[in-house]
Amino acid sequence: MSATDSTGRRGAEPAWAREAERTAGVEIVPGRAYGFFTDTTLCIGCKACEVACKQWNNLPAEGFHFTGVSYDNTRALSATTWRHVRFIEQFDERDPGDVGPAAAGVGDRARRRDGAAVFGGDRTLSPAGGGRMTEREDGASDGAGDRAGPVAYRQTAVGDRDAGPPMPDFPTGFEPWGHLGTDEQWAKPGARWLLMSDVCKHCVHAPCLEACPTGSIIRTEFDSVYIQQDVCNGCGYCVPACPFAVVEVDREGTGKAHKCTLCYDRLKDGLEPACSKACPTDSIRFGPVDELLERARVRVAELRARGIPAYLYGSGGVLEDDCDTSALGGLNCFFLLIDRPEVYNLPPVAKRPSANTGVGLAASALAALALAGAVLAAFRAGRGEG
Ligand code: SF4
Ligand code: SF4
Ligand code: SF4
Repeated sequence: MSATDSTGRRGAEPAWAREAERTAGVEIVPGRAYGFFTDTTLCIGCKACEVACKQWNNLPAEGFHFTGVSYDNTRALSATTWRHVRFIEQFDERDPGDVGPAAAGVGDRARRRDGAAVFGGDRTLSPAGGGRMTEREDGASDGAGDRAGPVAYRQTAVGDRDAGPPMPDFPTGFEPWGHLGTDEQWAKPGARWLLMSDVCKHCVHAPCLEACPTGSIIRTEFDSVYIQQDVCNGCGYCVPACPFAVVEVDREGTGKAHKCTLCYDRLKDGLEPACSKACPTDSIRFGPVDELLERARVRVAELRARGIPAYLYGSGGVLEDDCDTSALGGLNCFFLLIDRPEVYNLPPVAKRPSANTGVGLAASALAALALAGAVLAAFRAGRGEG
């Protein structure tokens, strides 16, 4: 078949050309931003995505052992594991009688005594600290209990990316995670599994790219962040710069930094990334970021209407004063979560290391001034001028 494709290329198209249009309903056009919307509520932990990534990228298997602390055997992203399905097993071993299916926002376990839907099962029947839940004038949930701290929980649009219309408020009587401290989330978990397929976020303002001294890390025509292997010298500057502990240098193998490429080689040929193509539940959706955000907002509204505390992490919005990823300008690979970001090992406030540059320079200048003063004082004392 002879055709002119969307990129202007002419000639015979192989059978797999523009396959992403058939597998994901997505036309891949250079110049547009692509990424993933990962809906963690749909993940079943099958790890098909993790395996597909290893197969396509010819990465060695690892983690053929039982860790003893989790059913997850790979445990983390690494230089040879570019996608990792995180198992968050929230069970309280001290109280096995309370272990049971705490289905999100459904069933008797997810009902407060006053009948309002909550998340997390029996353990969240009352607000932490023994306080009383009240309703704000605007209808949003308000924790007027003994515990101080932010409880209002909305997603507002900030940052470089147009986050669209504001999210709908939570239903009346809804309890977001704001009423529990981080420690309490871990200490008093609901009896449930949370599953999340983690990957490079392909940050809009990528700290790894900013930190790379050789220019090895670039932004591609698909707005993904890509490490050019022939330019990387393995210095590792990108590793501490990444706020998500994604990139790693393969010290035992290539000696270079590695992470997810957003299947750059596949995108160039019009193929959907291997991981999202393999996902049987569509927990991982691939597509243009603006279209994914629209889809994600609909999904969040749907879940909130069912009493589930869903929110988007990395969509460019601010969740609370102390939960913000806007410094990165948004993430091209963003997530729908139903518990605090820390529970998924994500930072509530993601920062670029360059944000600390001014403070560091000021501290260095002060130290230099103090040192010069001390030297001058010692010099004058030595000459008997003091
Ligand atoms: S900073 Fe981390 S998450 Fe962001 S693009 Fe770089 S490796 Fe990926
Ligand atoms: S996009 Fe490609 S490289 Fe990235 S996690 Fe998916 S399969 Fe692996
Ligand atoms: S994201 Fe999809 S493929 Fe990966 S573990 Fe979850 S359900 Fe399986």
